[in-house]
Amino acid sequence: MAQGESDNENDKKKRLAIMGGTFDPIHYGHLVAAEAARDQFRLDRVVFVPSGVPPHKKAYPVTEPRHRYLMTVLAVASNPFFEVSRVEIDRPGFSYAVDTVAEFRRVYGTGNQLYFITGADAILEILTWKKVDKLMGLCEFIAATRPGYHLQLDATLEKFPPEARGRIHFMEVPALAISSTDIRRRVREGRPVKYLLPETVEQYILKNKLYAEEG
Ligand code: ATP
Ligand code: MG
Repeated sequence: MAQGESDNENDKKKRLAIMGGTFDPIHYGHLVAAEAARDQFRLDRVVFVPSGVPPHKKAYPVTEPRHRYLMTVLAVASNPFFEVSRVEIDRPGFSYAVDTVAEFRRVYGTGNQLYFITGADAILEILTWKKVDKLMGLCEFIAATRPGYHLQLDATLEKFPPEARGRIHFMEVPALAISSTDIRRRVREGRPVKYLLPETVEQYILKNKLYAEEG
């Protein structure tokens, strides 16, 4: 095949990322990380996948999937490169990343480049995820880290098998000390959440009286 033709083939290859999370609620930390990944890895699309029943028991009762899904839809509405998938919330049983990524592979075919975006805090957890070897073969990982975090990254990578190391990419994002845990606590205590998450999501939380109770 001539050089030009193969370049053309590459142009058609789509670059897609999955951003998984509980999104209880979604906030600007998630959105900034996804947008940074889109920019730095020239992604065509980022698909947010709110989890169904998380396999690792959470320390608090997770909000109903329909609320977490709708908040995620509201949060991504203004970004033409972002969308939301119901694949995990519609699947009965626990949500495992390996099943989700395999499903995306089935739907989008093998020709496309598939990434999974996580926060740096979650990257080591991957080693504990179900069928990690299969998962690492299905997609590459983008881990959002804070500027100046480099030394710890090398130590992190050493924990992965050598063949997996090249499939984990680190990406610096501005340090956004925002977490869903903090937002839930703020709502419960009647403190402001403005500028931590999109206004539409804040309004949804108030309208549906989410996070009002201790949890
Ligand atoms: P919780 O406080 O309930 O654990 P969370 O804020 O960590 O919630 P998750 O839904 O658990 O949100 O996170 C989904 C993904 O987003 C994970 O990969 C997590 O590491 C990443 N993430 C969470 N907060 C941030 C942030 N401020 N900046 C970058 N990535 C983040
Ligand atoms: Mg978390």
